Amino acid sequence: MSTYAVTGAASGMGRAVADQLRTAGHTVIDVDIVESTVTADLSTPAGRRSAATEVLERADGRLDGAVMAAGLGPAPGRDRPRLIAEVNYFGVVDLLEAWRPALAAADRAKVVVFASNSSTTVPVVPGRAVRGFLDGDLEKVLRTLRPFGKQAPTFAYAASKVAISRWVRRTAVTRGWAGAGIRLNAIAPGAVLTPLLDKQLATPAEAKQIKRFPVPIGGYGDADQLADWVVFMLSDSADFLCGSVVFVDGGSDAWFRADDW
Ligand code: NAD
Repeated sequence: MSTYAVTGAASGMGRAVADQLRTAGHTVIDVDIVESTVTADLSTPAGRRSAATEVLERADGRLDGAVMAAGLGPAPGRDRPRLIAEVNYFGVVDLLEAWRPALAAADRAKVVVFASNSSTTVPVVPGRAVRGFLDGDLEKVLRTLRPFGKQAPTFAYAASKVAISRWVRRTAVTRGWAGAGIRLNAIAPGAVLTPLLDKQLATPAEAKQIKRFPVPIGGYGDADQLADWVVFMLSDSADFLCGSVVFVDGGSDAWFRADDW
């Protein structure tokens, strides 16, 4: 049986993944701002440091895998772009960098990061913000997003997901992670019925946009089905999966980018 760290495990898809892993007999170290095995606020550097350290202590220095599901959606609010940036990008990168030795200590460790199909379907995501993330420069990200005003959370969200997808692909194959036996991949869901989406659907303007968005297969994704994909990506069957972003989005990415190959 294996030991996994799962962030965002108190709700939605992270919770569904943690439940499935526990039911299969694995040990799950769950991390969330809501009371959990490791309770931490991933929107601050101190919270990320304490989460990283406590997980390593509980895992005894060896992690078979990690699932990075903590995230914030593009809800309105002045401070929202910062929170999105801190949790969706730095809340993944800082923890995984800290856990790398523990992942390398396991045999064929697997990491699944929650990206989003917003990374390919939101138009004109500011490249400067994406570069700011990849440079680790939060102030540059926020400066770039400020002129977007009320739309800033939408672009912060999309930029955080573009950046985390790029970080996953680069880190998987050019920074020694593959050589250390760690399989680093991302999953890019479309709209999945979770509390995050419920909050967006409760706002009339956002609900209108979500309902107008092209989903060729129709409807919304199911959190347990997305968790099935993640659990598969953690399994031995995924030994040859490395640096991939797996879209599970009812066809929206294909609708926008059918000819991008
Ligand atoms: P959710 O809101 O149900 O769960 C997110 C979890 O993250 C919650 O348990 C929350 O407490 C935790 N979290 C938020 N801020 C935190 C903080 N500061 N510190 C620690 N934990 C914090 O959301 P979900 O829909 O299950 O989303 C999971 C992931 O999937 C997110 O990264 C999200 O961006 C991504 N995603 C969701 C959808 C969707 O439609 N639901 C689509 C694409 C991508």
